Amino acid sequence: MSQSIRNGAATAAIFSFDNSYARLPAHFFARQRPSEAAAPLLLALNEPLALELGLDVAALQRDGAEIFSGNRVPEGADPLAMAYAAHQFGGFVPQLGDGRAILLGEVIDINGRRRDIQLKGAGQTPFSRRGDGRAALGPALREYVVSEAMHALGLPTTRALALVSTGQPVYRETALPGAVFTRVAGSHIRVGTFQFFAARGDVEGTRALADYVIERHYPHARDSIRPYLALFEAIVERQAALIACWLRVGFIHGVMNTDNMTVSGETIDFGPCAFMDEYDPATVFSSIDRQGRYAYANQPAIGQWNLARLGETMLPLFDNDPDTAAQLANDVIKGFGPRFQAHWLEGIRRKIGLIGEEDGDLDLIQALLALMQAEAADFTLTFRRLAAVAEDDDATAAFAATFQNPDTVLPWLARWRERLTRDPQTAAQRAKSMRSVNPAFIPRNHRIEQAIVAAVEEGDLSLFHALLDVLAKPYEDQPVFAAYAEPPKPAERVLQTFCGT
Ligand code: AMP
Ligand code: MG
Repeated sequence: MSQSIRNGAATAAIFSFDNSYARLPAHFFARQRPSEAAAPLLLALNEPLALELGLDVAALQRDGAEIFSGNRVPEGADPLAMAYAAHQFGGFVPQLGDGRAILLGEVIDINGRRRDIQLKGAGQTPFSRRGDGRAALGPALREYVVSEAMHALGLPTTRALALVSTGQPVYRETALPGAVFTRVAGSHIRVGTFQFFAARGDVEGTRALADYVIERHYPHARDSIRPYLALFEAIVERQAALIACWLRVGFIHGVMNTDNMTVSGETIDFGPCAFMDEYDPATVFSSIDRQGRYAYANQPAIGQWNLARLGETMLPLFDNDPDTAAQLANDVIKGFGPRFQAHWLEGIRRKIGLIGEEDGDLDLIQALLALMQAEAADFTLTFRRLAAVAEDDDATAAFAATFQNPDTVLPWLARWRERLTRDPQTAAQRAKSMRSVNPAFIPRNHRIEQAIVAAVEEGDLSLFHALLDVLAKPYEDQPVFAAYAEPPKPAERVLQTFCGT
């Protein structure tokens, strides 16, 4: 088989592509072949994901550098750049599109799910504007690590299939090693994709896109009396659930522009994203977010704002009467708050080990968060160590030590213990269930930076691979990796993150 593929007369393709997006109207995308890479090298291949996608792993190990650099377009691919628009930091840009990403095609995975396979950094497209269409190794490595960590944490997310270095520099402030990142997604359709058509008054385009999204992601909406409104409601629900998950693990997306919000409800675009160390709702890492628009605690409000923009694009589909359409959309948008709140509360109740529901629970949770903020407690360590306290009083000192003044949390602990007496679980059950939602390991920013520096400056990928290993099992105590659970030392702290995969 290998020989026949190399000769271009494949008997069995590596990918069984079925490219539904390419069958949509021509103005949805621009066909675009990837550019050549000078000397591609396969740095990482996600074998479990490749198997899940039904791909030929042995063939990818052999030919991955050529394929994932874009040098060889695999049989059955129909490479294209998708058109989209966006609100970026609140300002509307009617035309963006994939400027440095090329959709190779779609495969149906072993679970019957349709998945996009996209090359990020494979050269210019008609949407590149002044960009070079390329990606630098550092940000590509960050996206690889964080998206896989997200997945292991149990959050809906785009995935990392492969990482290739191109052997060519990309020019940012300095020359940097170039890379191509291969991303897998339920789809790459964004809020901004809808905005692209709406901004042109193209109701038929919007309708064709909505029909496609219903078919691909929300088939149940078809049976509703108002299918498009049901679609909108389903997207609002998935985003409310997603953002609640982000908050549950201390994640800050960093650039929640409408082009970086999927309609599938997957986290997408890990640019200047980061997980926070010590708890502060105002935390911002992104160097370009000077106003704190996308700060940790602002994410639900921004999510709702973005979804309101999505609703606007579909108004003509909701009802022929504009007032009725607006009313229907508004009702759905107003539902975001309660939906988010329900998901968030459910998640955080589990984090502190509560099963039954009581009136004072929200108060108890907010009291802990307020203490964590006032006492600069590490978000991840606090909850993980609380799980230990649940089954062992001797673990109290270690838990309290995450607070600057450990004694300040003792009255809260007494309140919590008293509350637990009215829940049915045994101590061991409670600790186990708390550990299943409170990770020991998150992709801490300083660890990612160390891995990037080693890779970019020394060509040393060992830290990158170690990070991938430890983050694959975030809820397990992995004593050999204990150092990876630690927050940064003062000299290791990373205060800013940058865009630019
Ligand atoms: P992002 O910041 O990744 O969400 O990208 C925002 C927009 O800028 C998208 O339309 C990208 O395709 C485009 N873009 C970002 N970097 C580049 C680049 N190096 N070359 C071309 N387009 C780019
Ligand atoms: Mg983007």
